[in-house]
Amino acid sequence: MNYNVAGLLKECSGFKSMETIDDIFFVEEMNRQADVFGKVVFIRTDKGIWVSADTVVLIELACGGCLNQFEIQFDINMEEEFFPYIDMKNNSIIHVQPEDQPFRIDADNIISLEEALSQYTFMKIPFSPRCTVQCRGLCVKCGMDLNIHKCDCNTKQIDARWAPLVNLLDSKK
Ligand SMILES: [Zn+2]
Ligand SMILES: [Zn+2]
Repeated sequence: MNYNVAGLLKECSGFKSMETIDDIFFVEEMNRQADVFGKVVFIRTDKGIWVSADTVVLIELACGGCLNQFEIQFDINMEEEFFPYIDMKNNSIIHVQPEDQPFRIDADNIISLEEALSQYTFMKIPFSPRCTVQCRGLCVKCGMDLNIHKCDCNTKQIDARWAPLVNLLDSKK
């Protein structure tokens, strides 16, 4: 997940290096770990290093229908430019506008892909993920997992997150 780009920073613009990635990272917004594997190309630009990552990410999520944990996998193609902190020619700190450049190479010339991968992964996660396209969800009355059993409540399938609301409405009838 961490790549030392000191050597690459000394090269001229256009110089490339390729690395493989097979690692675990933390998706902060989801508060859970994900696996990533694939390849990453680092290209020296005039100002910093362009990172072009072609990866597959695996993460475990809770199904929005039945609440069971399941693993979801998606391709993440990341294109980001990372900017150095230190100008290696004169050892001075480079100042950039924070709103322009969110990703930086740290003072030890390390690029960490964790933050960027975490953001890309979070953007890919569906609002209400489903374990399968046919997930039947939970019965809103008895809470039974309708993928496993069939209950006699005869209610419509509904997103599990709305179930408390439906129960509330039912109790007011
Ligand atoms: Zn499900
Ligand atoms: Zn039921």
